Amino acid sequence: MERLVIYDAGHLDCSELYQFGNKHFVVGERSEPLSARTADPTATMVAIFVSSRIDRAVLARMPKLRLIICLSTGTDHVDMPSCIAQGITVCNVPAYGEQTVAEYTMALMLALSRRLTEAAAQVQTGKLDHAQLVGRDLASQTLTIVGTGRIGRHVARLARAFGMTVLGVDPYPNEIAATEIGYEYVGLHDGLARGDIISLHAPGGRDNQHLINRQSLALLKPTALLINTARGDLIDTTALLHALHTRKLGGAALDVVEGEALLAGSVETEVLADGRVKQAILREIAEHDALLKLPNVIMTGHNAYNTVEAQGRIVAGGVENIKAFLAGQPLNTVR
Ligand code: NAD
Repeated sequence: MERLVIYDAGHLDCSELYQFGNKHFVVGERSEPLSARTADPTATMVAIFVSSRIDRAVLARMPKLRLIICLSTGTDHVDMPSCIAQGITVCNVPAYGEQTVAEYTMALMLALSRRLTEAAAQVQTGKLDHAQLVGRDLASQTLTIVGTGRIGRHVARLARAFGMTVLGVDPYPNEIAATEIGYEYVGLHDGLARGDIISLHAPGGRDNQHLINRQSLALLKPTALLINTARGDLIDTTALLHALHTRKLGGAALDVVEGEALLAGSVETEVLADGRVKQAILREIAEHDALLKLPNVIMTGHNAYNTVEAQGRIVAGGVENIKAFLAGQPLNTVR
């Protein structure tokens, strides 16, 4: 009998998954992310959000596991070589939210350019000072999009509608989209040097880890704004903090950040409960703290996907993936 366990249940409205699952197999749930501590050894299938980390220690505790459903596009939280070695199928939902994440990117761009969080904080404390809140129009600014895939291209469309000049950076340029939308491909160095705003939309993982580092940050205009709605590991946080503190960067809006699970407190609790506080974790906590203290930084804890419409599409995609897997024709498999 198949047994599906939904991890981090409550993060998304999974009622469609329960309705389908309860007709065909046993469904269990855990309110926490999947980890070595929360691994259910009876599960044959798991549905996980990006807060879960699948590594060898987790897989060792789940001997019956056959299917991992990622309720996300990104799969860099899953150790793919280990899954492949154990014959476990991994599926994702590749295209649920290009508009959703692109709209959020524009929201972050506007919030940072117009100093929205600072204005709101000033009003709340009754100390409104317009001289400190002077912003920049988006119109006529140059936006550099790093990663012109599904989301990046949609950001380009929205940015063009705002009257921005758009540059694209991608190892696989899509010249047809560039002509249709109206942007120009440039190399990474050129794009970083010319952008008033840099927005990251490339996948994370080993190949792109710290794509934005001390050297690449040095190429940016000192007034440039950096937006990351893609993956936290694209930016070296230590280098970012250095650039912000030395005023080599105008500001940053980070929906994702290295060690973002710590923002929800779950990993912190686990690590401290273990009695093993790792140096790297302490550094990430200190870096988050330092970022949160800066008025020109916005952090939103991986929230760009989070609309009613996108949640519906993610869960429907998860159900389709399970149906296809059980019918012997897996869909959206990650390799
Ligand atoms: P996609 O696969 O359609 O596009 C990614 C693009 O990045 C591709 O065109 C690829 O060629 C390009 N790329 C890869 N390495 C690059 C590099 N070094 N420099 C420049 N470009 C590079 O992916 P997508 O669906 O558009 O998703 C983009 C990102 O957004 C992913 O990291 C995904 O995990 C993330 N995402 C975040 C949220 C959120 O809630 N914050 C939600 C969905 C997706």
